[in-house]
Amino acid sequence: MIITELSESLPEAEQRLLERVGELAVGFAAEAAEYDERAEIATGHLAALHAAGADTAVLPEWVGGTGLTYRGFGVLLRVLAKADPSTATIWLMHAGAAVGLAEFTRDTLGSFFADELLAGKRFANALSEPASGNRFLNPQQDAHPAAGGWTLTGAKRFVSGAEIADYLIVNARVDDAPAFFGVPLPDSSVSIIPIWDTLGLRATRSQLLAFDETLLRAEFRGRAPGPGDFQVIPAGLPAISLGIADAALAALAEHARSRVILGKPLSHQQWVQFEVADVESRLAAAHALYDLGLSQADSKRPSFFPTLMRAKYLANKVAVEVAQLGVRVGGASGYLKQSPIQRYLRDAEAGQLMAYSTEVMAGEIGREVLQVTDE
Ligand SMILES: Cc1cc2nc3c(=O)[nH]c(=O)nc-3n(C[C@H](O)[C@H](O)[C@H](O)COP(=O)(O)OP(=O)(O)OC[C@H]3O[C@@H](n4cnc5c(N)ncnc54)[C@H](O)[C@@H]3O)c2cc1C
Repeated sequence: MIITELSESLPEAEQRLLERVGELAVGFAAEAAEYDERAEIATGHLAALHAAGADTAVLPEWVGGTGLTYRGFGVLLRVLAKADPSTATIWLMHAGAAVGLAEFTRDTLGSFFADELLAGKRFANALSEPASGNRFLNPQQDAHPAAGGWTLTGAKRFVSGAEIADYLIVNARVDDAPAFFGVPLPDSSVSIIPIWDTLGLRATRSQLLAFDETLLRAEFRGRAPGPGDFQVIPAGLPAISLGIADAALAALAEHARSRVILGKPLSHQQWVQFEVADVESRLAAAHALYDLGLSQADSKRPSFFPTLMRAKYLANKVAVEVAQLGVRVGGASGYLKQSPIQRYLRDAEAGQLMAYSTEVMAGEIGREVLQVTDE
């Protein structure tokens, strides 16, 4: 409802894209459980998104795309995440890596990475590493000077969509400062450590990658992220949890209406109504805060970043609450593997882990509110 109202205020080209994505999302939702069960990347979904123009749209105009508003981006991702959160997560990481590389290397490589994205090549974010924890923009692994650039030996964790990527964006410490590189794949020095088998978002196949003297080529080095860049990841992550929460609430309501206990649907029990009112109101507040952050980003207000951080914090927590209520309302039938209710709970948990985690954000927000300036 809120999303539909928001869509009406978007530019016409974005509304058309959102209609196409909305149509695709119906098919994605029908297949999401099977991809999750097999822990398989829905490559067809990603190809369909490219064909629908999602990749061109997410690329800002100044690097050769058509450029989505943040509000349009937020609607698109929520629709996708409600239908198939694994596809939404891979697409988000792909967009973040591709747009980042296109922006960071614009002055040195021209349109190279933008052209690759427009041609349908796939990108993945290899930023998180074992020792940096949630501070994925502060790599702890040093790259060492070598002919043609620098070499990296180490690991990157949870690289969503790594197996289908043509390029990685990789960060490493160079001369004590974070540096960002595009790494073309396949590269014999980059291998997968096959431990992928997770509780939730199983179809993202976010692999652990090992780097063994991998050459980070000087010509593929980009500048550091800057204030004018399109903030794909911070603007997108709240949408993953909000989409999962929307889907979990819809499944809960469907179950409550259809399950009859002692002659009446479960939805007629007062405790269910009260609890649903509570989570639904908080979910609506999380959507509204997210929409505020997106609008602030579109108006280039610096306040957008703290707002989006709070939106992610709230969305991550609300998604788990909605999904947990779903398990209670679902009873034993919702606990069956064939029910979507259990999948929403597994997927909702992942939102809190993705950087910045709810714990890291709580520290940031708490320190800001309490005006704690030292460690
Ligand atoms: C489904 C999924 C997909 C992902 N996809 C990608 C991807 O495509 N690319 C990518 O680079 N990364 C990706 N990640 C990684 C993710 O974004 C996190 O950066 C990474 O998970 C953090 O490491 P960790 O999970 O080992 O947790 P840890 O960092 O070990 O966290 C363990 C606990 O410590 C807390 N903690 C960690 N650091 C701090 C701190 N500084 N202060 C206070 N508390 C802290 C955490 O909140 C958590 O409670 C993905 C993660 C998931 C779950």
